[in-house]
Amino acid sequence: MPLYSADALVLRTYKLGETDRIVVFLTRDRGKKRGVARGAARSRRRFGGALEPMTRVRVAYFEKEQRELVSLDYAEPVRSPLSATDPDALGYVGYFAELIDETAPDADPSEPLFRLGAAVVEAMAQGVAADRLARYLEHWVLRLQGVSPSVTACQACGAALADEGAWLARPELVLRCRRCGGSGGPPDLSPAALGFLRQAALLPPERLGEVAFPPQVGRELERVHRVLIAAHLERELRSLRVLRDWAPNG
Ligand SMILES: [Zn+2]
Repeated sequence: MPLYSADALVLRTYKLGETDRIVVFLTRDRGKKRGVARGAARSRRRFGGALEPMTRVRVAYFEKEQRELVSLDYAEPVRSPLSATDPDALGYVGYFAELIDETAPDADPSEPLFRLGAAVVEAMAQGVAADRLARYLEHWVLRLQGVSPSVTACQACGAALADEGAWLARPELVLRCRRCGGSGGPPDLSPAALGFLRQAALLPPERLGEVAFPPQVGRELERVHRVLIAAHLERELRSLRVLRDWAPNG
C-alpha cells in the first residue's frame, strides 16, 4: 500500500463510528481526499489540533487502489486559523472551508486552489480582517472556476466600468455599464467595490489590510458574490446561513 505525504488543507471532518473520524482534505498535489483518522474521535493525542477546518497540515496517508477512502497515518498542523487575531475570524472558518470543499473537484488536482486556501489561512494568522478575506476568497474561487465576470469592461458594449460602477445582469450574470444594464438605481458594484476587486487581483491576501474597504463595499461584494456562487453551485452554502445567524452585524 503506497504511502503519500503532502501539504494539505483540512476542509471538514465527521465521525465514523465511536472512535474514528473521516477527514476531507485538499492536497497540494493530488486533489481532494477523504481519509480515516483512526482514534481521532476518542483521543486528540494522535492528531492534536490538526483536524480543525482550514488548518494547513503536513499529512501522510496510505492509499489503496480502487478504494475511495485513504488511511491517515498522521497530520501535523503547520498553520492554524485558531491563531487568527481577528475575533470574527473563527466564525468564517467553516464558510471558507465549505467554499473550497464545494468547488474542489474530487481527485482532480488544483494547486492554485490549495495555494489560495493556504494564503488565506496565512493572512488570517497575520490578522487580516475576515470579511475582507471572505470577499477575496469568493472572488478568487469564482475566477479559478472560470465564472467570474469581467470587472473592468461592460459585457455588452465594452465601456470601462471604473467610473460609474457596474450592474449585474440576470440571468446572464455578467456586469454591464449604466447605459446597457442600469435600471436607474445605484450600481450593484460601486467604483470603490470594483477597485477592491482590481486590487484583490494583484495583491496577496496578507496585504489586503492596505486596501480601502468601507462597509458599503463589503456589502455590495457580498451580495453579488452570493448570487454568482449560488448560481454556480446551484444552491446556497450551508455555512452561509450559520454565518448570517452568527455575524454580529450580518
Ligand atoms: Zn455597456
